[in-house]
Amino acid sequence: MSQQITLRVRPGEMVRFPNRCAACGQPATERLSLQMKRGPVTRRLDAPLCADCARQLARRSGREEQLWRTGRLVAAAAGVGLLLVVALLVGGPWWLRGLLGLVAGGAGAALVWWVFARRAAAEQLPETRAVRASARIVDFTWRDMTLELADEALAAAVVELNNMEAEV
Ligand SMILES: [Zn+2]
Repeated sequence: MSQQITLRVRPGEMVRFPNRCAACGQPATERLSLQMKRGPVTRRLDAPLCADCARQLARRSGREEQLWRTGRLVAAAAGVGLLLVVALLVGGPWWLRGLLGLVAGGAGAALVWWVFARRAAAEQLPETRAVRASARIVDFTWRDMTLELADEALAAAVVELNNMEAEV
């Protein structure tokens, strides 16, 4: 079962972790980058990860790989197509037609890319998803941060490490 912990960390302050993989408990050599964005504020944090889990995190399923590849092509085609259509159909000086074409093409490509990215995320390998879910930021304020860790023992160790730091 995963566990939520709230730590007193202000923006820019470090969260201390034991040198143990957040996903499997092996000695950690790599980092899992976490981030949470709320309005203009983004909080970042690195959780420890072992080499095996880091490799797992980078692994893509065949279906995912295919979606990324197709997504790139379709986004590029949609962008160029929209640019040409808008530039040809809209009246006015050439620079205005070019500008509107660029805006429409950019928006179209971004929309297509977003759709493919969502579908690719749904095709993640279960093992990859498990590593990604081993640590995440669930909430933060200007003076604390709530983390969810899959490993309860790790959560307890993190609380201890960071509270000791706060009392000194
Ligand atoms: Zn691991």
